Amino acid sequence: MSALVLTKERKNVLLLEKTNVIGGNCRTYNVDGFQVDTGPHAITWLIKGPLVDLMDKYFDIIPKFADHGNYYVRDKGKLLKFPYTLQALAQFNVFTKTDRLNMARALIDASKIQTKDNNGLDISVYEYLKKYELSKNAFMFIDTISYFLSGSSMKETPVWRILSGGGTTNELSSGLKKKISGVVGILANKHESHQGYPIGGIKSIANAAIASIPDKMVEIKLEKEVTVIEKKGKMFTVSTADENYTSEMVVYCAEVVNLPTILKNKLPVAYTDKLLTLKKSVHALTLWLGLKQRIKELDYLGSEVWFAKETPYWAMPTSNYDSNLAPKDMQLIGFGSRILEGETVEEHKKILLRTIKKAIPGIEKEIVMEHVQVTIPDKASITIGAKFPGPKTPIQGLYVAGTDVDPRSMGITRAAYSVVEMLKHMKKEKIL
Ligand SMILES: Cc1cc2nc3c(=O)[nH]c(=O)nc-3n(C[C@H](O)[C@H](O)[C@H](O)COP(=O)(O)OP(=O)(O)OC[C@H]3O[C@@H](n4cnc5c(N)ncnc54)[C@H](O)[C@@H]3O)c2cc1C
Repeated sequence: MSALVLTKERKNVLLLEKTNVIGGNCRTYNVDGFQVDTGPHAITWLIKGPLVDLMDKYFDIIPKFADHGNYYVRDKGKLLKFPYTLQALAQFNVFTKTDRLNMARALIDASKIQTKDNNGLDISVYEYLKKYELSKNAFMFIDTISYFLSGSSMKETPVWRILSGGGTTNELSSGLKKKISGVVGILANKHESHQGYPIGGIKSIANAAIASIPDKMVEIKLEKEVTVIEKKGKMFTVSTADENYTSEMVVYCAEVVNLPTILKNKLPVAYTDKLLTLKKSVHALTLWLGLKQRIKELDYLGSEVWFAKETPYWAMPTSNYDSNLAPKDMQLIGFGSRILEGETVEEHKKILLRTIKKAIPGIEKEIVMEHVQVTIPDKASITIGAKFPGPKTPIQGLYVAGTDVDPRSMGITRAAYSVVEMLKHMKKEKIL
């Protein structure tokens, strides 16, 4: 995205990518005739937000988004709509009555803290909730939601992040009602954060950006890992194992925590200290299953969450949005889950598959394709005390972009925020 906006702002761009393919975690590829994404994706803030702003201004080809649909909890063979109001939560009988009352009490108390003192909510979700005597079941649910909304467990996720629905509502808005509805609007697609899935798979977003780059304004070099960046005078030298390139401006889109190692110029301690507060999100394991036919248990548009036993998962039947993602009359679904410390990929895959078979009885008879991916969803997760650095670095002409730069929203929308902010700085500094 950075390459596109800079070329459209009349800069020639050299893009160096360490792997043999462009797109990072925003890719879709073929496995036995099924088009799998790099993890299940729902894109947030599609009515009004940074991605839409960038698409309107810079994209010549705009990806088409299907409405994401609903978020569900799978419980005892049924799909229950996610409870997105306090009333719905009160009737959500996946939990005991005591749990429901205690959760509602916790939410109301949080809203009171919110009106008095925003900082009161920068404690972990677990720390905040432990006095409410919730059951193990309720905590498993909260831990699952925390992970999917922040990239970290309930012991590391700040309360405010959950109250903003993990960035599906506007974290910077102050209205109490908005915050409360955000809690359980968490995922519910019932507010200004319209969510969607791109027809053609997640790669449609990266492909549209690349196809919109004006002719001859970009040179892409694959399998070129940047190992050194150094500024001397007004010029930067960017080095890979076998080549050096010079430029008056650099946008660094790799992990920002590695910048102090790659950059030869000294960064102020205050800046490097800030980078040290960032934590990578844990490794996600996505298991894609290709099914030989569409099954009624997966006949919905949206995502489902499972948290009851074994490993929690978050799943999306992507071929329900676009039947071309699976061979004719077949179905494709991705199950995302987190690998726990000490687990190997193989062990976790086994546990996940066992969980899926329990959650969706009979699915095993339909499986014709299994594909495992291990990825890191965001380069930094939202944790207590994390200080995102913003796109401008202390070195004039060096910017950073990506999911570890701006804390707002999640994934692609978060990366888009970083690009929008970067453009603002460049314009202010009259670089553009
Ligand atoms: C399982 C999963 C689920 C997700 N779900 C969602 C979702 O529901 N909604 C959503 O919006 N987003 C989601 N995301 C996140 C989304 O895919 C990313 O936010 C998006 O791809 C942008 O990521 P990024 O900016 O962190 O960069 P990345 O995708 O990590 O790209 C960084 C690029 O830099 C390259 N690179 C790194 N180091 C170097 C180096 N030294 N030299 C040269 N190149 C280098 C990498 O190879 C990579 O291509 C999900 C991701 C995963 C994996």
